[in-house]
Amino acid sequence: MGKVAPPVKKNEEIELVFEDITHEGAGVGKVNGYPLFVPNALPGEKALVKVIHVKKNFGFGKVLNRIQVSEERVDPPCNVYEKCGGCQLQHMSYEMQLDMKRKQVENTLRKIGHIEGIPIHDTIGMEEPWRYRNKVQIPVGSKNGELITGFYRQRSHDIIEDMDRCIITDETNDRLVEAVRAIADRLGISAYNEETHRGVLRHIMVRTGQVTKQSMVVIVTRKENVPELDAVVKEITKAFPEVKSIVQNINPERTNVILGRKTKLLWGEEYIYDKIGDIQFAISAKSFYQVNPIQTKKLYDKALEYASLTGAETVIDAYCGIGTISLFLAQKAKKVYGVEVVPEAIADAKANAKLNQIDNAEFFVGQAEKVMPWWKAQGLHPDVIVVDPPRKGCDEAFLQAMIEMKPKRIVYVSCNPSTLARDLRILEDGGFKTVEVQPVDMFPQTTHVECIALMSRVEE
Ligand code: SAH
Repeated sequence: MGKVAPPVKKNEEIELVFEDITHEGAGVGKVNGYPLFVPNALPGEKALVKVIHVKKNFGFGKVLNRIQVSEERVDPPCNVYEKCGGCQLQHMSYEMQLDMKRKQVENTLRKIGHIEGIPIHDTIGMEEPWRYRNKVQIPVGSKNGELITGFYRQRSHDIIEDMDRCIITDETNDRLVEAVRAIADRLGISAYNEETHRGVLRHIMVRTGQVTKQSMVVIVTRKENVPELDAVVKEITKAFPEVKSIVQNINPERTNVILGRKTKLLWGEEYIYDKIGDIQFAISAKSFYQVNPIQTKKLYDKALEYASLTGAETVIDAYCGIGTISLFLAQKAKKVYGVEVVPEAIADAKANAKLNQIDNAEFFVGQAEKVMPWWKAQGLHPDVIVVDPPRKGCDEAFLQAMIEMKPKRIVYVSCNPSTLARDLRILEDGGFKTVEVQPVDMFPQTTHVECIALMSRVEE
């Protein structure tokens, strides 16, 4: 098979029937077994496709003309959907998005983890899968002497100039970004220019508490001294009573990283507050906080259900961030130990424990793979271990420590089915059994897949 030349040529136009969809949301159609990946094409569709790139075992194409249209196709409601690339699934019905995510979890667990024959539940979706993000960070540029704001065009650093809203973001955030832009423009604040490293205004970031409706505006500038900001503060606070905090962040570096080291409170409180379930969180400009609190609540309820706590258990929450899951679990556990590598996140976790008068949660700064063996050596015997690692999954040494600690249950929250599958395999080989898996749609309209798996220890 390897020696056979690809059956298509670059620039060739062919009729293609789509049978499948990739994890990135592209349609997959085959020519004599040779797959072509084509954006904006759905399974069941037929289209005239132009081949744009040919590789040995697969190629890429683009739709010239749709011949048969899927019933699952919907008109993307965003006017810049195809330029932006921030969303990848707006052309697909929400039902199909949820179904696709469930299938992705199922297939990945089978192929990579050899885990099958267990319940993989229907994806828990949103009733209203729009306007869910509580945070937006938008680059500022200029065009014809005017300030503009908008996300970058796909694979570029050109601002999409006709973007006046982002319909997966809280509406207040949209209005605040536009207000700051308009005021700054009127006051003559210049836009930062990446190439010359001159100009002032780099990004506008806004966060709004989903429950509390309190907003924080973060104005990211290249230099510290920007006298016009006083007037920006005055106008914003007058027009937006929901704004509780206005912060300047100074980022003097040549970098893609949005926030710089230094933040300066311009007006109001240093924190805004929000709630997930009964737990309150104080959020500063630099705090990590889940972007979709409605779905986060559903995810953590599931974590709590899978942990099945009675009040007598010792629980470890590894990769705990600002302690969101830990504090949720602490309500039902005897004791929760959280570990996280970012010191500022642990400071937030401790502050949030205090804020909620939770005194049975303790937080440690460190790498989970180093702290776990130390805990074990100290004689800590967790009944339940909850993990929520970054995309690359858990460290091998951490997994081994978990196996040796022999908890009754492991609850694994994952934002990447591939590393989840790899890690579940290791844990299964170490004496645990995967009981069930629940996908939860944290990021509607995008290809991100989040799920939660319950494992229990096989009795010897
Ligand atoms: N559970 C939290 C955050 C999960 S994100 C919540 O729901 O909000 C994953 C977290 O793992 C990040 O906060 C990241 O800083 C942390 N992390 C990454 N590598 C780590 C490691 N080796 N040890 C401990 N924490 C780590």
